[in-house]
Amino acid sequence: MRQDSLGHVRVAIDGPSGAGKSTVAKRVANAISADYIDTGAMYRAIALKLIREGVEPASDGDDRLAALLAATVVDFSGGRAMLDGVDVTADIRSADVTLTASRCSALPSVREKLVELQRAMGRAKSVVMDGRDIGTNVFPDAEYKFFLTASAEERAKRRYAEITARGDKADYGEVLRSIEKRDYDDSHRALNPLARADDAVLVDTDGIGIEEVTEKILSYMV
Ligand code: C5P
Repeated sequence: MRQDSLGHVRVAIDGPSGAGKSTVAKRVANAISADYIDTGAMYRAIALKLIREGVEPASDGDDRLAALLAATVVDFSGGRAMLDGVDVTADIRSADVTLTASRCSALPSVREKLVELQRAMGRAKSVVMDGRDIGTNVFPDAEYKFFLTASAEERAKRRYAEITARGDKADYGEVLRSIEKRDYDDSHRALNPLARADDAVLVDTDGIGIEEVTEKILSYMV
């Protein structure tokens, strides 16, 4: 397997929401004894803090936003999202946080802070990182890059099944619309939009199971 000069491997797994990145990335990390880092959870943790403090993720010139970011500690380790030393893994999955995360991830000051943290993680250890801009921006020189896709309908079906399986109510049309809106927002923002790096392996997950996708990715990492 390829390694950087420090003996670490950095695996970038990017793609739109609902393509199965996190489940696959966790399995790949496990298989190669690397740390799994969910970068979306890091944006969500900042969003949670903004909501709790009543700060609008509106614009970057905002002093309150700058002060809040300077006083905020975000981490992701052992599969848990940490905000100021407190485990917020469960709290960052609400619809409110999802919306705010998408908005605040367009702000340069938020991205700068988190990208710097993510690069530091990749310098310290072997990582499998899932996100939107890992192969294009966080680690343009990652040892391995993958871009997972699936049709919006397939991703909406998966999300719908997830929500109803935990006993919550959902409307398929609404789930699909929200996925399409996030796709649009994520790929049209000015800074580090969702995009496939030229050298990333494209993996279409439509109609294939998690196990098969994981095997496919691992088959490139020899
Ligand atoms: O992947 P997840 O849905 O948890 O990501 C939450 C939000 O964080 C996404 O809407 C996306 O805009 C943003 N994000 C990002 N860059 C990343 C990971 C996530 O902008 N590397």
